[in-house]
Amino acid sequence: SRAGNNFQFIDVGRNDPNKRDIQNRKTQYIEIYDQFTESQVENQADRCLACGNPYCEWKCPVHNFIPNWLKLVSEGHLFEAAELSHQTNTLPEVCGRVCPQDRLCEGACTLNDGFGAVTIGATEKYITDTALAMGWRPDLSGVVQTDKRVAVIGAGPAGLGCADVLTRAGVKAVVYDRYPEIGGLLTFGIPEFKLEKDVMVRRREVFEGMGIEFKLNTEIGRDITIEQLLADYDAVFLGMGTYKAMLGRFPGEDLPGVHKALDYLIGNVNNNRGYQQDPEAFVNLKGQRVVVLGGGDTAMDCVRTAVRQGAKEVICAYRRDEVNMPGSRKEVQNAREEGIQFLFNRQPIEVVETNGKASGIRVVETALGEPGPDGRRRPEPIEGSEQVIDADAVIVAFGFQPSPAEWFGSAGVELNDWQGVVAAEHQNFKFQTTNPKIFAGGDMVRGSDLVVTAIWEGRQAAEGILDYLDV
Ligand code: FAD
Ligand code: SF4
Repeated sequence: SRAGNNFQFIDVGRNDPNKRDIQNRKTQYIEIYDQFTESQVENQADRCLACGNPYCEWKCPVHNFIPNWLKLVSEGHLFEAAELSHQTNTLPEVCGRVCPQDRLCEGACTLNDGFGAVTIGATEKYITDTALAMGWRPDLSGVVQTDKRVAVIGAGPAGLGCADVLTRAGVKAVVYDRYPEIGGLLTFGIPEFKLEKDVMVRRREVFEGMGIEFKLNTEIGRDITIEQLLADYDAVFLGMGTYKAMLGRFPGEDLPGVHKALDYLIGNVNNNRGYQQDPEAFVNLKGQRVVVLGGGDTAMDCVRTAVRQGAKEVICAYRRDEVNMPGSRKEVQNAREEGIQFLFNRQPIEVVETNGKASGIRVVETALGEPGPDGRRRPEPIEGSEQVIDADAVIVAFGFQPSPAEWFGSAGVELNDWQGVVAAEHQNFKFQTTNPKIFAGGDMVRGSDLVVTAIWEGRQAAEGILDYLDV
């Protein structure tokens, strides 16, 4: 190792892990990046300047001890790096893969000024993947078990973050999920080319080894009531996500051939993994001309899934310009490499119909006007610029709204004006809802956001629960 070289960043440039061969990428459901080798990771980690006041740590939503674990890995202390990395992050190997690092940790790296940021995400992934493969497991030997028990509803990043922190404080966490595997959108949403499904299977085994209990295929409100959980446990955490698809509100949205993004992605995962599902739920776009509407992470995942299914042509139509796309730049670049065509400044106005089925989408060109209430410049239609894009399938990827359960009212869990769960973030008991025994975090509280912010809220809520239980 070249550890300790203060000028490493001058001799060694930033390198991302190699990407797999494009032909394999376009035809298989595999992650597109190779793992770093040991010498690559040591050299890359050693580029860190160990800034006194590390901006990367502040910008990382879980405030990872980034320079510290970069130093450990650059010196070959892999297990120590893994242990430290797990002090702040419940799923480091997942965040290393799916965080938009260019907007978070790496975007804040001092070396961005001309040298190229340290490859923080790929290093974080390497540390945990490699340590777990070598037999490392989180050290819980110092944990003193209490007699408290908490039910966690939802095995997504928020629920897992909460269960992790509770377990490390000696509180028994029992996690319920309606799906057959843990992960929430990590398993039933984000496709394999960003995050292979075995990563979450391995994670479940690690969590089970830590003492977390999972009750899968169990929906609260259907299989068990919230009253039952409130009676059986000392507290309940809700990490149930947001699942109501936003509609385009244009004519033709209900036509055959028009699909909701998440239904399409989940159907494909279920098909790949052999999970049980209604055969109608699997949509195969082989040989078809596909238009995906939207410009976020979900839209990118849909276009790239369609390519892997063997679609004849895949177009992404987005109503703002490229600079204003909300998703990760890296994934837009990856989509381009895989042959997706982008049509920017196009607003859909109607699905075109032939023989009772979608045959295209009518769009109008837009120009960006004044900023709206969200601070983003509003797309305004340009008169006379309509055009029809032919398509056999149209996928609508406009994001998600909260999907509160029917039982929230009877359980005393109040909602805000946009239907998000009210959870007091800055009170004594962090993320407590209007029912003192119920806490909540993640997408259902903040609106659909990121894996790493859901983990953070789940972990913070666990601290609130520990204070509430006085342990
Ligand atoms: P979820 O992950 O939605 O988990 C909620 C869980 O609760 C689910 O498993 C659900 O089955 C369960 N549940 C709900 N109701 C019940 C009930 N009544 N009983 C039992 N279980 C229940 N973020 C990134 O950072 N990077 C990305 O690249 C990225 N890509 C994305 C791609 C797509 C297609 C989508 C949809 C989102 C993406 N996101 C990405 C966002 C990220 O996945 C979410 O912000 C994050 O998963 C939210 O975590 P959560 O725990 O709040 O909810
Ligand atoms: Fe960067 Fe995300 Fe890891 Fe934080 S969790 S260091 S933002 S990749």
